[in-house]
Amino acid sequence: MLQQMTPAAIAVLGSCNMDVVAFADRAPTLGETVAGRRFATIPGGKGANQAIAAARAGGAVRMIGAVGDDDFGRALRTVLGEAQVDAGAVRASAEPTGIAHIVVDARGGNSIVVIPGANGTVTSLTAADEAIVANSAVLLLQLELPMEAAIAGAAVARRAGTRVILTPAPVQDLPPELLANVDLLAPNEHEIAQITGIDEPREALRAMLEQVPEVVVTLGAEGCVYGARTQGGTLHVPAPKVEAVDTTAAGDTFVGVLAVALAEGRNMQEALRWASAAAALSVQRAGASTSMPKREAIDAFAA
Ligand code: ATP
Repeated sequence: MLQQMTPAAIAVLGSCNMDVVAFADRAPTLGETVAGRRFATIPGGKGANQAIAAARAGGAVRMIGAVGDDDFGRALRTVLGEAQVDAGAVRASAEPTGIAHIVVDARGGNSIVVIPGANGTVTSLTAADEAIVANSAVLLLQLELPMEAAIAGAAVARRAGTRVILTPAPVQDLPPELLANVDLLAPNEHEIAQITGIDEPREALRAMLEQVPEVVVTLGAEGCVYGARTQGGTLHVPAPKVEAVDTTAAGDTFVGVLAVALAEGRNMQEALRWASAAAALSVQRAGASTSMPKREAIDAFAA
């Protein structure tokens, strides 16, 4: 069990999106109209999801990003606030809030159009943003903001001694000036296969260690595998066996909770076990941010 202490300071530099979801028997083809069954707006974006996961796990989380001056932006601020995420550094942009326009078919398959909107305006860090990064134990980065922002954030973190965890999604070329300042890369098995061109996760992980000092690959129901440049071999942490209902944002829950554990000074094995417990709890409930467990529930499940 993790003891409650001074909350670990976590900075998240990342996206805020509203997921606009239509549920239909099948997705329409070009020029076609189909009748849908249900519609939902679900607050998301990998940045906001990781921030909420970390805050619910007990981190003192400050989020840097942007939303529009519109209803979706206000809804995202409300959700972040309810989770106790400090959204003071989430800018109010003249662009509309980022949207993920999703059609989910009867088999759970989906097609998605992402419109970055306000997220696309975050191309650099203000002095206040830099102070947030420098005064945090961990910086969480994903790739849903412009690459310049991630590069700038990681550089500030490196100078300040803030540990950088990067979720390389959506997959794109990873510039050396970004990787040079990443401490821990956290892809899922599909992402690392795309990045390295190697399908076997452990082999891909070892190849990736030539570019970053530590890598954790999430393997869905199989758990995760971790490796570090300074130690031989890999560590496999199995996922608790549970009945999965909705795995949306399982990866974001895993990373957000891992950041809290590491910021609290836990060793990697214990941190991975705690993050796995949190992710296993999240997949047993429908929803993204609403399915993320609170600290007490993670402790009870991990005990
Ligand atoms: P998503 O894109 O849905 O956010 P992901 O593909 O990035 O997820 P996964 O590798 O699927 O990430 O899952 C992340 C972590 O969540 C896993 O390492 C595991 O700990 C946990 N997890 C996912 N699926 C299950 C499951 N069916 N049972 C238990 N734990 C799970």
